[in-house]
Amino acid sequence: MSKFNLEIVTPERKFFEGEVEMVVARSVTGDIAILNNHIPLVTPLEISIIKLKIDGDTKKASISSGYMEVTKGKTTIIVDAAEWPDEIDLERAKKARERAEKRLKAEKDSSDVARAEMALRRAINRIEAKDN
Ligand code: ATP
Repeated sequence: MSKFNLEIVTPERKFFEGEVEMVVARSVTGDIAILNNHIPLVTPLEISIIKLKIDGDTKKASISSGYMEVTKGKTTIIVDAAEWPDEIDLERAKKARERAEKRLKAEKDSSDVARAEMALRRAINRIEAKDN
């Protein structure tokens, strides 16, 4: 399978850079699989688990919201945060989930509710990424 360059960056670090055979990411309209020579595109990404296929192996990572840009031979993913499963602190994610659930019950203001919902989704996503 032919390869292309994938770069995943967060505000804190270059999370990944290397040659991959495929990346599967969740856009707002559903999962997209990028192979070499995919047509150019820019799409927002959801809080989700991305899959990278490297030398036949699949690596998974949790990502927060962001964007993916596909150009000829190179795909760039820019996200608020990204973690490999072994970097995820499960207790921290469970506490974040608990805090977000409490806030969701208490909040009335719609922007605070939206923030709590996003925090809940990030926490659940990390818990799932650690489990799988
Ligand atoms: P918390 O309330 O626990 O900080 P959060 O969802 O608000 O969670 P983010 O703002 O998404 O956290 O991330 C801030 C930084 O902390 C990022 O570098 C992210 O990778 C890291 N991070 C967040 N939660 C965890 C976790 N459970 N395990 C490891 N790293 C985490």
